[in-house]
Amino acid sequence: MAVAILAVAILPAACSRGERAAVERGPHVVLITVDTLRRDYVSFYADPPLPTPAFDRFGHEGGAADLAVAPYGRTTQSVGTIMTGLHPLRHGAEGLGLNLPAEVTTLAEHFRAAGYRTLAFVSNRNLRPGLGFDQGFEHYGSDPSRYRGNSADALTREAIEWIEAQEAFETPLFLWVHYLDPHWGYLPPMELARLADPNWTRPVYLRDWPKIEGLEKSDILYFGDRHLTDREVDHTQRLYSAEIAAVDQEVGRLVSVLDAAGILREALVCFTSDHGEGTGEHDYYFGHGEYIYEGVLRVPLMFWFPGSIPVGTRVGGVVRLEDVAPTILDLAGLSVPADLDGQSIAPLLREGGMQEPPPVTGVHLSDFRLVRQRNPRQTVPGRAGQWWAIRRDGYKYLRIPLRGGEFEEELYDLERDPDELVNLVAERPQVAARLRAEVERRMRTRRDLSDEPPLTTAEDLEALRSLGYVD
Ligand SMILES: [Zn+2]
Repeated sequence: MAVAILAVAILPAACSRGERAAVERGPHVVLITVDTLRRDYVSFYADPPLPTPAFDRFGHEGGAADLAVAPYGRTTQSVGTIMTGLHPLRHGAEGLGLNLPAEVTTLAEHFRAAGYRTLAFVSNRNLRPGLGFDQGFEHYGSDPSRYRGNSADALTREAIEWIEAQEAFETPLFLWVHYLDPHWGYLPPMELARLADPNWTRPVYLRDWPKIEGLEKSDILYFGDRHLTDREVDHTQRLYSAEIAAVDQEVGRLVSVLDAAGILREALVCFTSDHGEGTGEHDYYFGHGEYIYEGVLRVPLMFWFPGSIPVGTRVGGVVRLEDVAPTILDLAGLSVPADLDGQSIAPLLREGGMQEPPPVTGVHLSDFRLVRQRNPRQTVPGRAGQWWAIRRDGYKYLRIPLRGGEFEEELYDLERDPDELVNLVAERPQVAARLRAEVERRMRTRRDLSDEPPLTTAEDLEALRSLGYVD
């Protein structure tokens, strides 16, 4: 039973496999991350066009954070945070495509030091080997054929092949699987596209519609309402849901193989995403990274650990992706480093019921390294043009730079106005002033990374183009 396993210390890495009796080792740890997965497109949390039963199972049978948020709307920064428990301003992979520095200690390194076998299967070019996300992994499956998305089946197959090739799992595993499919463009299997939008009567599903209509991604991203009818926006949202449903099926397949291999008998599973997706709110259509409204920041977060986390546990309040790594370490019985930005919610998960973590401050920034020229709301290039947001006490304050050192401000009461429709800056000047001062304090103390080169190699640009990042 997992409870008994947690009660004993993890043996140091120096122990050989033979010395580690089954009862003395830690649980297997499975981390499943789905790129670009908005919280409200997971049917555990809301009512998307297609349900996600495989994802939902982790929350129904285990514990879930009601509201989990990403620090940035980009893969590099937020996956770096999931892996380290550090905010991107501290772990240093603060722009798309940058390296996760060797000085940080990742989950894989912690588990490897504790005697685990560490393996990853990933599908995003920004997580490719050599960028630091592979540190601590003894096996890092990252076939470039998966970098364009539509790769959930190939990714699952590779993970399954590895699992089925093993004779036994006496040594505990730390297994990370990262799916990419919900990322733009939305190219779900046709049967799921039809299921998601059965009343679509045009001859062509808009799976390839930028090419069909002759539109660039920037036309859609910032000016979708000029180019798309409401019905086309709805259709595209449904294609996004169909992409997610395709990954859900693959996660179900992976879980059944993990179960058949006996791995789930003593396993902790963490399920989450690196960031969400704009699906039209605030005139931001089918992208992430530039605008940092809630659709881009809210992600699912679930922990499944039978025997340790009571069925149906909920954690209220705000949980950040910074909290994921310390929670995983804590649940697995490893010590949690004291100097992380996140904090473990394991005690709340173990208690069951609905628990509230202590109030936290969420710090969110837009990407500075890849910003489209046509972005109408990032008029200042580079880091000076980055949006900042602070989340605290139910409020979210945004600082949006303008030319000449000016900036726009927005303030939202997220409990009453989760869609961020009513700007309260004029109505609540004291709240705005307090949060503005907090942003400015953090701006002054950030590390200087001004020498970071832009993403301009031909290979970078082609890879980014294929994912709709550049036109
Ligand atoms: Zn991502």
